[in-house]
Amino acid sequence: MLEHLKEQPADKILMLMQSYREDPRENKVDLGVGVYKDASGNTPVMRAVKAAEKRIWEDQTTKAYTGLAGDPAYTSGMIDLVLSGAAPKERIAAVATPGGTGAIRQGLELIRRAAPDATVWVSAPTWPNHPSIIKFLGMKMGEYRYFDDSTRGVDFSAMMSDLSGISTGDVVLLHGCCHNPTGANLSDAQWDEVIALLKEKGAVPMVDIAYQGFGDGLDADGAATRKVAAAMDECLIAASCSKNFGIYRERTGILMAIARDDKEAKIAQANMNFLNRQNFSFPPDHGARIVSTILGDPTLRADWEAELEEVRLSMLGLRQQLADELRQLSNSDRFDFIAHHRGMFSQIGTTPEKVETMRQNNGIYMVSDSRMNIAGLNAETVPLLARAIVDARV
Ligand code: PMP
Repeated sequence: MLEHLKEQPADKILMLMQSYREDPRENKVDLGVGVYKDASGNTPVMRAVKAAEKRIWEDQTTKAYTGLAGDPAYTSGMIDLVLSGAAPKERIAAVATPGGTGAIRQGLELIRRAAPDATVWVSAPTWPNHPSIIKFLGMKMGEYRYFDDSTRGVDFSAMMSDLSGISTGDVVLLHGCCHNPTGANLSDAQWDEVIALLKEKGAVPMVDIAYQGFGDGLDADGAATRKVAAAMDECLIAASCSKNFGIYRERTGILMAIARDDKEAKIAQANMNFLNRQNFSFPPDHGARIVSTILGDPTLRADWEAELEEVRLSMLGLRQQLADELRQLSNSDRFDFIAHHRGMFSQIGTTPEKVETMRQNNGIYMVSDSRMNIAGLNAETVPLLARAIVDARV
């Protein structure tokens, strides 16, 4: 049986990590994998997470199964964190999932059950797992233009022009904040225009929010998702706790479905529970319990928010330092976009050849589409990267 399996293409980012590890140069810089790192290159366990884990260890009396939808304290805490009352709870169905990826997978499966012929539209470019899961599920997929390689901002007129061609009942996948891989985001007014277009077309938005708190702050980063939730009759939201709680390996995410009314929300809930049952039965609980412990305790929550803010500001500081450095070295403002991008990534918009040149000549490791993880930098490595970018004539 197993002899019939085909080789799988190697994952680009994992291959990059491997060659980084094998590179003997001392001043190499890893801007590949999407994990937050502090100035010394560590991905720390957040203080509030440690405290919550201690409390769970002391207080937890059972490891028996939770419900199929996960622990209600987690789902309701996350609904508040992401939506902050933007839609009435009776209209919201929610299930805990293994990470944001699990939420996207369950959301797409829900769409496929409800509307098997719908096309799911993704931004070009987007996080590669989006198209990969859509194709794996045998669903129809379309792409809307998003990034302008020359300005390194959103090509909004191209985006709107492509979205104006979609059909009633299609699904549009949007990044709630901190677009991955580009770092370029819609303005508030542009979100309004997208929402108006989706309403006019009778399309359903699916918002992927994986970096709430990494861009402009917890509330500012939730604003677009809340706008969508408040305006649309129906929408899906896939949220991840991997980044903002730093609990990547605990696999903690949530899928929310906002239905037209409470009756439809109950049916959506039953279908989401069913899908969890088919795919993994009960969702993982440890990460979810960390999150609900933090969100439910004012002291832990304040400490988590403060540390998340430190993380956010450190990335903004690195962005500014890099943009300043490039301004000086290139004697132009061509790279100011780096300071305007938000989140963990920026796509500098150059060719795979130039990315490879920077790797060979300067030990700079970024993904071949020129996405760089800003958190992979520190004050000492920013000048090395700036020099590499200028020398490679990006
Ligand atoms: N969506 C986007 C855009 C992401 O970048 C990620 C993480 N790389 C996720 C979802 C999901 O992350 P996880 O499954 O680790 O929670």
